[in-house]
Amino acid sequence: MHKLILKPGRERSLQRRHPWIFSGGVARVEGNPQAGDAVEVRSADGVPLAVAAYSPQSQIRARVWDWKVRDIDAAFIARRIAHAAAGRSALLAEGGTDAVRLIHGESDGLPGIIADRYRDTVVVQLLSTGAERWRDTVGDALAALPGIVRVIERSDADVRALEGLPPHTGLLRGIAAPGPLIVVEHGLQFAVNPELGHKTGFYVDQRDNRLRLRGLTRGKTVLDCFCYTGGFAINALAGGAAAVMAIDSSAAALDAARGNAALNRLDGAEWLEADVFKALRALRDAGRSFDVIVLDPPKFAPTAAHAEKAARAYKDINLLAFKMLKPGGALMTFSCSGGVSPDLFQKIVAGGALDAGIDARIEGWLHAAADHPVALNFPEGEYLKGLLVRVSV
Ligand code: SAH
Repeated sequence: MHKLILKPGRERSLQRRHPWIFSGGVARVEGNPQAGDAVEVRSADGVPLAVAAYSPQSQIRARVWDWKVRDIDAAFIARRIAHAAAGRSALLAEGGTDAVRLIHGESDGLPGIIADRYRDTVVVQLLSTGAERWRDTVGDALAALPGIVRVIERSDADVRALEGLPPHTGLLRGIAAPGPLIVVEHGLQFAVNPELGHKTGFYVDQRDNRLRLRGLTRGKTVLDCFCYTGGFAINALAGGAAAVMAIDSSAAALDAARGNAALNRLDGAEWLEADVFKALRALRDAGRSFDVIVLDPPKFAPTAAHAEKAARAYKDINLLAFKMLKPGGALMTFSCSGGVSPDLFQKIVAGGALDAGIDARIEGWLHAAADHPVALNFPEGEYLKGLLVRVSV
């Protein structure tokens, strides 16, 4: 096997089982590994540490497949995929939900591979050279899962460019879907468009938080900011909200949201195409107020390098939301930025409340749903963090 030899002292993070090897820690490569090939990783004094997928163009020069040096073959990948999928079978068996994350990258021992199941369809993202190398095996293993009739690839995320990979999308296995794909989440229906939607088409990570919101909205006025295809807003309607306003800058997302509301025979939401930063100011200036506000913005800080600018943006929208919350009202606020830790996020939200001049308390620390596990030694896996904050009366 090709070998990747680390610089002295650079074995420590691997010994703590963090699965990334950065280019700066590499002393030399022996053999001639091609992008995606397996390399044996050794410390400077020759101790074998792991087997990893080699990525010559990326700052993340290799991603660990296993802590035991072994051959990485199709059977290894297929076994990992079957194991990851089996871990989600209880969630599917509960009923009421058929949109689940099957593979959550590093945290499932499958670096660079994300797969979401939407009823009979799997949408997969291959985001690293190691993942790319095993496309056919991944396609076969996903297609072989019980109840799956097609696998669609959506490998068009920006991170592929960092790996030197072009976008790659389309039907990977099975036959094209005859019509729109309708999924069920906690009893509500949503249309998912895997070809055009964000990421794999739907934000399954927010499943339990959307249900939590449902329980907070009876008779309340609700504002859903960054509503995408209506996930939170439609849960608010289902929870018996008196009025729901939902804002997104994407006309296509709002069309889908209207369609989703109709699918559940829940009308009465006001769907507003606008920039949330501007819309919140306009609503504040108009003297509007709400019982419940949701802030679920896109990733403002992909890495820690963007954290400061992102912090200002989070503070801005949280402060505006606090100003418009009625006494006793609730704010459900999220960050999906890898570069913003849960601790930093809590500080930012607290700063927003302080500047808005209100007292508030945390009623819940919110996370991605359980089908998004976080490997103990891979804090990067915990990208979604949120707070449920209650304003004092
Ligand atoms: N809450 C949604 C997911 C939100 S994804 C759900 O539960 O499904 C983030 C959304 O923010 C996207 O739909 C994107 O179109 C929208 N967006 C990004 N920047 C925006 C801005 N400045 N103003 C309004 N919407 C924005």
